[in-house]
Amino acid sequence: MIVAERKTIPELIDILQGHKNVLVLGCGTCVTVCLAGGEREVSIIASALRIASRTQNLDFKVSELTIERQCDNIFIEQAAEAIDKSDAVLSLGCGAGVQAIAERYPRKPVYAGLNTKFLGILEERGIWTEKCAACGACVLHEYGGICPVTRCAKHMLNGPCGGSKEDRCEVNPDRPCAWQLIYQRLKSIGQLQKLEQVTMPKNWGPSLSGGPRTIIRDDHRI
Ligand code: SF4
Ligand code: SF4
Repeated sequence: MIVAERKTIPELIDILQGHKNVLVLGCGTCVTVCLAGGEREVSIIASALRIASRTQNLDFKVSELTIERQCDNIFIEQAAEAIDKSDAVLSLGCGAGVQAIAERYPRKPVYAGLNTKFLGILEERGIWTEKCAACGACVLHEYGGICPVTRCAKHMLNGPCGGSKEDRCEVNPDRPCAWQLIYQRLKSIGQLQKLEQVTMPKNWGPSLSGGPRTIIRDDHRI
């Protein structure tokens, strides 16, 4: 899922300077699961902004709404009335959601209330970790399902850098060496021979390095 975290209230107040009627708009999908932008967080942020408005004489009204997905026009439609009534939208969606709303409402200021961080999973209660950098050409099948692009600090594709101590990464000793994990995983599934092959340099063309990406499915186009 997409993992994000909330901006601070002082940051949000700064962003919203000059607006009188702000809609805090949540998203009910990834950012709800990672406790950054769902109905509960919308309520917390809206309440904090109302308190700040009163105590700091900022004089703005705050309304709140959460839709199922901000990155999908069908669901954005459900927020049409609330967006029309506001003079600015504070989106608690991921960066894609914020931009989808802004594209749909070219005359309405739309602001990001979250910092979108990465594609990851809930590792344990309260801890999310990055698992995928969306490189556009997945090589997980070569590495026992453990991504060296994301989980190795040096993105090593042909074995470890040699700097790990015990099983810890030399760049960040709080994290295990990805290559230790890859070795153990390939061993446990009987595919250690994969490490004998030399991996050619990765084609980064399909990654973000090649510019913004688009997927076109002709079989789904009308
Ligand atoms: S190889 Fe690329 S697509 Fe696959 S998990 Fe790693 S970053 Fe994500
Ligand atoms: S110690 Fe392991 S995870 Fe860290 S940079 Fe080196 S190979 Fe990558």
